[in-house]
Amino acid sequence: MTQEPAELILKGINASPGICIGKAYLVDKEGVDIVARYYIDKSKLQDEIKRFKAAVKKAGDEIRTIIDESPEELKRAHILETHVALLKDKMLYGKAIEIIESKGINAEWALKQVVSNLRSVFLGMADSYLKERVSDITHVSDSIMRNLVGVRAEKIADIDKRVILVARDLSPADTSQINLHKIMGFITDRGGKASHTGIVAQALEIPAVVGLNVATTRIKVDSLIIVDGITGKVIVNPSEKTLVEYEERKIEYEDYRAVITRESHLSARTTDGIQIEVMANIELPEEVVSVKNYGGDGIGLYRTEFQYMNRAVFPNEEELFEKYQDVVQVMAPKPVTIRTLDINGDKAMTSQNGQDEANPALGLRSIRYCLRKPDVFVTQLRAILRAAAFGTVRILFPMISAYFEICETEKLLDQAAESLEKDGLPYNRDIEIGIMIEVPSAVVLADLLADKADFFSIGTNDLIQFALAIDRLNPQVAHLYQPLDPAVIRLVKQVTDVAKDKGIEVFMCGEMAAAAHHIPLLLGLGLDELSMNPQSIPEIKRVIRTLNIRDAQEFVQQALKKKTARGVFGLVKEAFGDILDNRY
Ligand code: PEP
Ligand code: MG
Repeated sequence: MTQEPAELILKGINASPGICIGKAYLVDKEGVDIVARYYIDKSKLQDEIKRFKAAVKKAGDEIRTIIDESPEELKRAHILETHVALLKDKMLYGKAIEIIESKGINAEWALKQVVSNLRSVFLGMADSYLKERVSDITHVSDSIMRNLVGVRAEKIADIDKRVILVARDLSPADTSQINLHKIMGFITDRGGKASHTGIVAQALEIPAVVGLNVATTRIKVDSLIIVDGITGKVIVNPSEKTLVEYEERKIEYEDYRAVITRESHLSARTTDGIQIEVMANIELPEEVVSVKNYGGDGIGLYRTEFQYMNRAVFPNEEELFEKYQDVVQVMAPKPVTIRTLDINGDKAMTSQNGQDEANPALGLRSIRYCLRKPDVFVTQLRAILRAAAFGTVRILFPMISAYFEICETEKLLDQAAESLEKDGLPYNRDIEIGIMIEVPSAVVLADLLADKADFFSIGTNDLIQFALAIDRLNPQVAHLYQPLDPAVIRLVKQVTDVAKDKGIEVFMCGEMAAAAHHIPLLLGLGLDELSMNPQSIPEIKRVIRTLNIRDAQEFVQQALKKKTARGVFGLVKEAFGDILDNRY
């Protein structure tokens, strides 16, 4: 009698919500890990460079073919266009040719060296998004390498049965080939929350769990697996009981999503009639489609730094203007909050020859960088003011940590408006000005900053990091990164109190706003608007409709008496357990 394989539970990072149950398809990614090193005769160096250029060209042709064949949803993500640009980037392409020439070495080895240097530069960056761009460099160099050594890539498009992909990592070129009739979901060993694999899975709206480390070694071809993209769990060889349980959970989840998405176009009004705006955070202009589908009341945070990445020179005013204008026009008359460049020192280095920094998170980043580079900043400010002529735009300044910074920023904004006036271009200077409150000094100075702003937007992702001295990317201390920490609650309260006192609006755009169990607290503290990833909007709107402000305010008084995050969480469960029960 053969024994049934035992059920195994793997825990990873929930990259895209939903549940799928099916057979595992292991994506074979071998072939380019071991690379030979040999010297090239001087007389043959030009031929070696030609061989390298031919491999880059072939890799580019392959990616372009994939772009042409990709479903529309993925074309919007523009990831593969970034890869085409990266193929010819100075730091990759130029540098590899330079090494072949200067060291007289073979193309494979030169490429390997360049990629290893770039990986360490990117992995040292403070910004999680930039850190994860290492995977772009790896995918691009893998495709060049495959063409150099003559290994063919497996085509996911050729898979002709309904399966769940299991891979060490999936490149955007891989995920772009996903046929929704065949691929139910995917799981990977590598990748984090901000990885493209997750972004693509969300765009396709299929479940995905990433960062599992051991999925490709523990899961066998054709094993039955359950992917729970809500909790980040993968169950291998589920028992009959687990299978039944997850089949029910899958149906419940899908019914629930259908209901809340249908209702998400209604406004989020509390039972005592207070309307809370539920807005979206976006990184790419193309995401406005999801914002509309999920009933976003506008865009509360448009992170603009992504347009500056993976390229040799920064975008010019016209390019920026066109992207902003697109978003503003599609969303009009709903507001679009454009946050100015939140770039860090390391990021500047990749494009603009900056300096190495020991603590990039505390370095020449964000508004500090912009004030140091007024030409870069004014170019962006002009583009924003021009886009403001086409709808409702608010401007938001990140990482303000001192009063003088907002004064200098204001001067540059005026300068941008004056120059547009001189140039005779249409623009709108009469826009709301917001300050991100994400550094503890900004909380302390909130009363001064309020005189310079029409609204505050609390960025809890950074505020928690700086207030509790916890690196938001460090897994060793991730358990201490607690939005419900009494220190965080008091800081938020200080900001909302000042805002009410000064008569300005107060919003939240950090991840804290996207969790259903934080909502009673946030409403009670007096937040006027919450902004989050588009997919969370329906659920947060639903939760708001079940609450009333008076109860929420009373709840805050109780929560303020608690001494630990656990204590506050216990109180949430006690008072609003039903919200948690309904949550997926
Ligand atoms: C924040 O810090 O909370 C925020 C919204 O900005 P980002 O995550 O882009 O730093
Ligand atoms: Mg921030």
